[in-house]
Amino acid sequence: MSATIIDGKAFAADIRGRVAEQVAALKAAHGITPGLAVVLVGSDAASEVYVKSKGRMTVEVGMESFSHRLPEETTEADLVALVEKLNADPKVHGILVQLPLPGHMNSDAVINTIDPAKDVDGFHISNVGLLGTGQKAMVPCTPLGCLMMLRDQLGDMSGKEAVVIGRSNIVGKPMAHLLLGESCTVSIAHSRTKDIADVVRRADIVVAAVGRPGMVKADWLKPGATVIDVGINRIDAGEGKTRLVGDVEFDEAKEVAGAITPVPGGVGPMTIACLLANTLTAACRANGLPEPEGLTV
Ligand code: NAP
Repeated sequence: MSATIIDGKAFAADIRGRVAEQVAALKAAHGITPGLAVVLVGSDAASEVYVKSKGRMTVEVGMESFSHRLPEETTEADLVALVEKLNADPKVHGILVQLPLPGHMNSDAVINTIDPAKDVDGFHISNVGLLGTGQKAMVPCTPLGCLMMLRDQLGDMSGKEAVVIGRSNIVGKPMAHLLLGESCTVSIAHSRTKDIADVVRRADIVVAAVGRPGMVKADWLKPGATVIDVGINRIDAGEGKTRLVGDVEFDEAKEVAGAITPVPGGVGPMTIACLLANTLTAACRANGLPEPEGLTV
């Protein structure tokens, strides 16, 4: 039987709709408009595209969007000075410094100057620590999106076997912490894992965040498993064209899995939706108001 295809595009649109409703309610009841500042250094083509869509969607949900574009040769000290200015600005509830930064900058040092309460990417060391210890944190957007889809699909995940493939700081590790928070039995596989197929085969939940096209094969999956494919890989499609594929061999895997996210149209659209949700959460927390409903961990 073919798997349920999890429609990330529709799910993300629904989240943005819920964010917009709660932003409108926040404005009406308290006169607060959440604000998101995005800082882009240099002119990386992919980053330019992301920053543009972030700005557009921020405005679409009724938030204020502040865009800061700095030249490639900006010094780290000048970037830190801007972050500190944004930290002190009461109209800015969320700050995102678009990565990667130019090679002459220390990304960790820059990210760690963001006020943790405004760190809507959830990359500040304080938020990493809060998440790791099961406390209220700003949660990185991509794993938060994966968790929302898993909750929607599975409800209670307690006691399920979950395997996360990939141990990056932005996806794999926070995803594993979130699944632990759901009381799953969590394994993290990576490039040194021995017999990875065997590890994945025991999983009720598979989250693949590797960056290798079609690495996860159908015969690695337990029948009925829920598969979240974070990978975004551009491959040659012949005749000078390219196309995007995930880390999972989708066409075969959907005949074994119980539910699966496609690429594109799965996890990808959830990331910006969760960035907006995090900005709303940050604005609520900054004003001592209750967490927005259904949009946080
Ligand atoms: P990353 O930092 O490059 O990490 C990749 C991880 O995969 C590493 O932990 C690596 O293991 C592991 N790995 C590499 N080759 C492997 C193999 N043969 N077997 C098992 N594990 C292997 O990547 P990332 O930033 O987490 O991103 C992963 C993928 O998700 C990429 O395709 C990226 O484009 C995509 N992504 C999508 C979104 C979205 O919005 N949908 C957001 C972020 C990332 P080691 O640690 O041992 O090297």
